[in-house]
Amino acid sequence: MSRFTSTQIQMKPEPETRSQPEPLGDMSAKEFRIHGHQVVDWIADYLAHPERYPVLSQNQPGDLKNALPIQAPERGEAMEAMLAELDRFIVPGVTHWNHPGFFAYFAISGSGPGILGEMLSAAFNVNAMLWRTSPSATELEEVTLEWLRQLIGLPDTFEGVIYDTASISSLCAIAAAREAAGLDVRERGLSATGARLRMYASEHVHSSVDKSAITLGIGQDGLRKIASDAEYRMNATELQRAISEDRANGWTPFCVVATTGTTSTTSIDPVPTIADICESEHLWLHVDAAYGGSAAILPEMRWVLEGCERADSLVINPHKGLFVPVDLSVLYCRKLGILRAAFSLVPEYLRTGESDEVKNFMDYGPQLGRRFRALKFWFVMRYFGAEGLRTRIRNQLELAREFADWVDQSDDFERLAPVPFSLVCFRAHPRNVSTEAALDELNEQIMNEVNRRGKVYLSHTKLSGKLTLRLAIGNIRTTRDYVRLAWNELNEALSYATRV
Ligand SMILES: *Cc1c(COP(=O)(O)O)cnc(C)c1O
Repeated sequence: MSRFTSTQIQMKPEPETRSQPEPLGDMSAKEFRIHGHQVVDWIADYLAHPERYPVLSQNQPGDLKNALPIQAPERGEAMEAMLAELDRFIVPGVTHWNHPGFFAYFAISGSGPGILGEMLSAAFNVNAMLWRTSPSATELEEVTLEWLRQLIGLPDTFEGVIYDTASISSLCAIAAAREAAGLDVRERGLSATGARLRMYASEHVHSSVDKSAITLGIGQDGLRKIASDAEYRMNATELQRAISEDRANGWTPFCVVATTGTTSTTSIDPVPTIADICESEHLWLHVDAAYGGSAAILPEMRWVLEGCERADSLVINPHKGLFVPVDLSVLYCRKLGILRAAFSLVPEYLRTGESDEVKNFMDYGPQLGRRFRALKFWFVMRYFGAEGLRTRIRNQLELAREFADWVDQSDDFERLAPVPFSLVCFRAHPRNVSTEAALDELNEQIMNEVNRRGKVYLSHTKLSGKLTLRLAIGNIRTTRDYVRLAWNELNEALSYATRV
């Protein structure tokens, strides 16, 4: 049992409810209403005070599995019992992404309106594969993605599609790029074409692009990683050289993936120059702005998408930067017809009369079934308004700059990368520790100590071989006090590590 039990939210038992389900049919409306209210109350308490829990779950492997029965219950059980077990067994094994001290990865920051939208889409439970199977799901997707397109300043030649994650958005974009290469891989399969396809990305590209190469038959050899400069941005001269070299050696280049906001440091590849190269080499340009794209809703941050109007496709994750609960990723595509050509396949039972007038989103990816994800996005945009979203993102950028200043002014810490967004890369570097091996060890100790204490949660990366701490500000509940707390925790962990 967790040592945090005493602070758990208590479920009030509801005396009126029965303990066995009806023999047939769903939970009654009366019962649903009672438990629905209980659950909403629980969520409201939870969101008001996620900091009552340690941000990083303190569970050991197997803790939950060992606590639960190995077989499904034979008879239905009372909701009260389930809710009590939620507190007792499930919550201790949750790492709290809603916690204001969550600085470890790019936040997937759920917000109240987003959660309510998610509840309603669970209630509708539609499958938005065809326009007809739920016209509102399809058209709300078009409306919200048009709103977002305008907010980030992409031209109206781009149309959007919602997928679950950036990994799948990029997979579909690269499949479209492969289709655009004109080898008819779709019909013949890659091996029959005899082509050795090659795509390019910086050495800091997200691992999901490697996975796309694996999944699409391009292979890891087919993804050539381009070196980056001192600020972790793709070296465009190297890119041009690699493409020419590959053509001379019989490869077929087809795609470049540029990143706006890389995972390690949030560096921004030089998209305008990369777009020049893609144009002259006739290559598909996909931009991974999964993290960085959201900031472009601020006029003063529009520059981060400079050159992206010339991309063929771009992915942005509202579930990262825009307070939409996971999952919701958007792929914008300037050549939606090619994406459709890559995937569309309509069996007889899915043919409908209005196919020429409407979008059937099943045509734009490998999956048939689709959730009604646009609803939660609509709720978030309506509730906060563009202005409310901008204010929150601007605040996060300011907090990151402030934290970066503390690092820069400290004798014991140093910054290891520029801060274009709200991620700070840094490490402890006290005067009396000089070897790289000792610094790596010290910083690992500091990170483990901070995370063990449970008030804030940080992650790390390696930059030029150096163990680097990452503080990523993106949670809607993070305040300046929490950034201050993170800084205090780091300094305390440093004195603790250097004392023992
Ligand atoms: C988070 C991230 C991804 C992966 O996002 P998922 O939605 O989890 O697949 C890809 N690229 C970048 C740059 C990211 O920050």
